[in-house]
Amino acid sequence: MIEDRRTLLKWLVTGVGFTALDALAGSAIKVTARKKVKIVVIGGGFAGATFVRALQRLEPNVAITLIEENRTYQSGPLCAELLVDKRDEQTLTFDYNRLVSEGINIVHDRAIKIDPKKKCVVTRNATYTYDKCIVAAGISFDFEQIKGHSHELADKFPHAWQGAKQLNILKRQLHEMPDGGTVLMTAPNTEYRCPPGPYERVSQIAEYLKTHKPNSRIIFLDSKERFPKQAQFELAWSTLYGYGTDRSYIQWIGAKQGGTVTELKASSHELVCEAGTFKGDIINIIPRQRADRFAAENGLTGDNGWCPVNTKTLESLKIPDVHVIGDAADAQHLPKSAFAATCQARVCALAIYSIINNQPVMTPEYMNVCFSLCGTNYAISVAVNYHWNVASNKIDIISSNITALDSPPEQYVSEVQSAYSLFESLVKGAFG
Ligand SMILES: Cc1cc2nc3c(=O)[nH]c(=O)nc-3n(C[C@H](O)[C@H](O)[C@H](O)COP(=O)(O)OP(=O)(O)OC[C@H]3O[C@@H](n4cnc5c(N)ncnc54)[C@H](O)[C@@H]3O)c2cc1C
Repeated sequence: MIEDRRTLLKWLVTGVGFTALDALAGSAIKVTARKKVKIVVIGGGFAGATFVRALQRLEPNVAITLIEENRTYQSGPLCAELLVDKRDEQTLTFDYNRLVSEGINIVHDRAIKIDPKKKCVVTRNATYTYDKCIVAAGISFDFEQIKGHSHELADKFPHAWQGAKQLNILKRQLHEMPDGGTVLMTAPNTEYRCPPGPYERVSQIAEYLKTHKPNSRIIFLDSKERFPKQAQFELAWSTLYGYGTDRSYIQWIGAKQGGTVTELKASSHELVCEAGTFKGDIINIIPRQRADRFAAENGLTGDNGWCPVNTKTLESLKIPDVHVIGDAADAQHLPKSAFAATCQARVCALAIYSIINNQPVMTPEYMNVCFSLCGTNYAISVAVNYHWNVASNKIDIISSNITALDSPPEQYVSEVQSAYSLFESLVKGAFG
């Protein structure tokens, strides 16, 4: 048994301490001649990739197959910088070579079906039996929530909220927009991937416009009354982009001001909301979201579109021996972030390790740290600690620490470096 609880807890919440954990696990686990436990993981994003590497290191007596449709993975974190030409695509693109070298069987295929009775996962090309199946397949979009919008129109009015293709479309649109143009953006009021992400994107686009197309502006039509780190974002916007003045690059119209978009008029490039009809040269619609199609088609989702789980082990409440981690999981009140996804991945790996070894499952600890890049030398952050609530199955917030509004300028600069460091450590834990 791995007994150093403090080391484990630190590793669970931050992913730091893999080396110490190796030593512990190596000396603690007796590899017996018993049959290898078969683990099939669907999805090699931050959650799935972190999970397979964590479990592999905790428990050598497993045979892990990771089914991932794509040969490379593109990161959501820091993609706002890619959008506005501040970084190359390759700095955000990762392959699975390291995982292969660590003995994980990577299959590039699309998973279609789970058969819980036969305990197997069917892909386009093969069938894989499992003792435990982990679903880490991310999100899908609900385009029809806005009248006039559809999956078919998404390349014209890109969300750029998943994968490289849409991001490159939005990037090209920004390049091609004439100076004096208007960018319209909208985001949902239900749970979605990266709650502060849209506001980080607004900030980065505003900086791009200020630098390259100074007669342009961005209007955010929001279906929320308030948004995460709002006071911090608004301070950054007024410091950097004239927010609140006639010459502001950013206009934010919240739900209370009638910003909830109800219709897309595709032919005239307009968004309709109570506050009026707005014409945009570019329309970036971030649609409502729910768990990925695989989860929905295999009976893993609840009424709200996300996958209910036991938040101690991340095991599905719908199908035994199937665990759901990352954005697809209904793990309230964790946000849908890469940080939280990797935290869930480690909690799940440790729970499965304990189950395999007939040991009690440890009470989990969760944390989320999120940086938002508001400009080249300006970032803000929030760090939240959570407590697992056995009675409600919720993950309750116990404390949080947000960038103070009276921070000195050096603080915003140093938060940019911290954002990059955190990104490096998330990537290292997932892709090596
Ligand atoms: C603009 C933006 C900015 C963000 N910024 C941050 C940030 O600063 N910090 C932060 O912590 N988080 C951030 N996020 C959120 C973060 O990207 C997600 O929370 C994280 O990617 C979730 O990881 P996941 O593994 O659950 O899902 P994903 O990363 O989406 O991975 C799912 C994987 O499953 C694969 N897959 C899906 N279905 C199948 C199938 N049927 N068969 C095989 N493979 C399948 C997909 O190809 C994909 O590789 C940001 C997101 C966006 C969009």
